[in-house]
This record gives sequence, structure tokens and C-alpha cells, in this order.
Amino acid sequence: GVCLRYVLQREKHFHYLKRGLRQLTDAYECLDASRPWLCYWILHSLELLEEPIPESVASDMCQFLSRCQSPNGGFGGGPGQYPHLAPTYAAVNALCIIGTEEAFTVINRSCPLLAFSYCCYSTDRSPWSLNSVSLNPRSAYCAASVASLTNIITPTLFEGTADWIARCQNWEGGIGGVPGMEAHGGYTFCGLAALVILKKEQSLNLKCLLRWVTSRQMRFEGGFQGRCNKLVDGCYSFWQAGLLPLLHRALHANGDPTLSMTHWMFDQRALQEYILLCCQCPAGGLLDKPGKSRDFYHTCYCLSGLSIAQHFGSGDLLQELVLGVPENRLQPTHPVYNISPDKVVQAVMYFLQKPLLSMKKEAAAD
Ligand SMILES: [Zn+2]
Repeated sequence: GVCLRYVLQREKHFHYLKRGLRQLTDAYECLDASRPWLCYWILHSLELLEEPIPESVASDMCQFLSRCQSPNGGFGGGPGQYPHLAPTYAAVNALCIIGTEEAFTVINRSCPLLAFSYCCYSTDRSPWSLNSVSLNPRSAYCAASVASLTNIITPTLFEGTADWIARCQNWEGGIGGVPGMEAHGGYTFCGLAALVILKKEQSLNLKCLLRWVTSRQMRFEGGFQGRCNKLVDGCYSFWQAGLLPLLHRALHANGDPTLSMTHWMFDQRALQEYILLCCQCPAGGLLDKPGKSRDFYHTCYCLSGLSIAQHFGSGDLLQELVLGVPENRLQPTHPVYNISPDKVVQAVMYFLQKPLLSMKKEAAAD
């Protein structure tokens, strides 16, 4: 029978998220440097829970995010702050989730996200050092994600990026922050997802990567650890388990005959058990592990991981494995962008109608 404890506390999570949304769109200003991230984490959690965003809230959020955008392109962590790749990724994802004309027109493509176009044209291609953001697999993913969603990838924009990411794959099989560094779930997800966008995933040793990530799911807890010899943490339910759909596709493209056509290559049931039993705060919101406090980051990535564990395949081949009551079912998420697959299609279709901009160093250097 169904274990009663395997219940996703939808209402509680919804109220927690709704309160966060209200705080975000209130006039209240703070020095928090990650407000586009809060927008994205909350909006994505709501779409996974199938909770619609009221029109007025969506519009307030568009206006807020437009104030976070630099006149030269790219988004900062708050109004008037320097643009960086990470908040740019978060803001673009948030705007694509909103998915209205108003949201899409916030994104300034004519100064094409200077924050990274300039960096990509730096002569040595290694540190992408605008505003002290150095090149790591995370910044490469943020740039590739934004550029592919908004149709600003030019043939030279990511020249050299794939080779550099491949050099960050170490002897363990996972990817580190720089070549030679310890493999880490966050960098590994970002590195592989960036390579998928750039259609260069074959530049990694995929078998080694598969062995590394599958060993990060802990037999007892069912959740994933971020690195070797670390404790399980709910957010790696996405960063690690999210690698499996990407790996599956890459290995499928290689004609690997050993692939299952019904399951990802991790224990989908055990991960759902961990999230439902250990990561839900009784008052709403999700967390790293019992005893830790809830936050919007863990709420977003625990729910994202839960969604990955519930859905195998995509499109017509979608197969569901929902642990517990049927109401636990979340909406699917796109394993590369981590927004709803429909929203990815919608954004790509919208921006495909816009001209491809040429990004010249001269344009970026003024
Ligand atoms: Zn965490």
C-alpha cells in the first residue's frame, strides 16, 4: 500500500513560495545581491507545482528585473548593480518562465549581454574576467544557456569553451571548477549542460562521468552527495540526478545498446523517498537535510530533482514513476535549462524571429 508519509506538502510549499513572491515584489529594497535568483527559484518552484502566477505579479517582476539590467546589457544582482553571468542566467530564466511579450521585451539583445560577449573575445580566452568573474563551468553554462534561449550564439562566441570545459573533467570522472580541481556536482552539471547546448558533449569521457555521478547517490539515504566523501544534500537531487537525462541522451546518440528505455541510470524511487521524507520543512519549503533550515534555493532544486526522478524520457516517450500519492506528481522540467520544456520552446520560438546580432569586440569595448 501507499506509505502515508510519502506526501508532497503542496499547500505548505505554495504558501511559503507565495510569501516569498510578495516580499520580492514589495517596494522594499535590500542589499541582497541575488534577487534575480530569488525570482527564478520561486517562479520555477511554482511552475513545477503547477501554480499559476497572477498577471499583476508577473508584470511587477518584469519591471523589477528590468531595473536589474545594466544599460550595457546583462543583469546585476539588484537594481544598479554590476552585471554578471549568474544573475543574467537567473533573470533570463525567470523572464522565460513568465513568458509574456512584456517579459521577453525586457531582455536587451541589442547590447548583447556585454558581460560575456566582451569576455569571450578576450585574447587569451581564459579568464573571462569581467568584474572578477572568472571562467568556470558555471559561468560557461550561464552564458550558453542565455545565449541559446535568446538566439545570440554566433559561430565564434563560444570558440574554445568546449575544449576548456573538457579539460576540467578530472581522473574521478566528474568536472571541477578549473582543470585539476576536485569533481563537484554543481560544476559537473553546468559543464555537461553547457556542452549539450554547444553540441560538444562527446568531448567528455561519458562513461567515466556516468560512473562518477552514479556513485554519488548514497545507498542508505537515497539522496546525492555533491562530492566524494561529503554528506547527502537535497539540492544535489537536481545537480547530480539532472546529469542522468543529459548523459542518457549523449550515450543514446552514440548508439549505446545497454541503455534502459524506461528508467534513468539512477534509483529514481530512492531519490523521491529522500526528498519526500527528509527534505520537506513541516512549515513549507524544502531543505538540504533534516535539521537544516529551508530556503528558496533548496526548495527549487529539491523540487527540480523530484521532477527529474518522476519523469523518464520526453515528449511521446514520457514515462512516469511517481512515488506515493498521485498528487505528488510535479510538472516535468527541461534538463538543460531547468525551466518547463514548454517555456523553453516558447522562448526559442520567440527569439528565433529576432535577428542574430553580430557581436564585435568594438561594440563591446566602448
Ligand atoms: Zn544544498
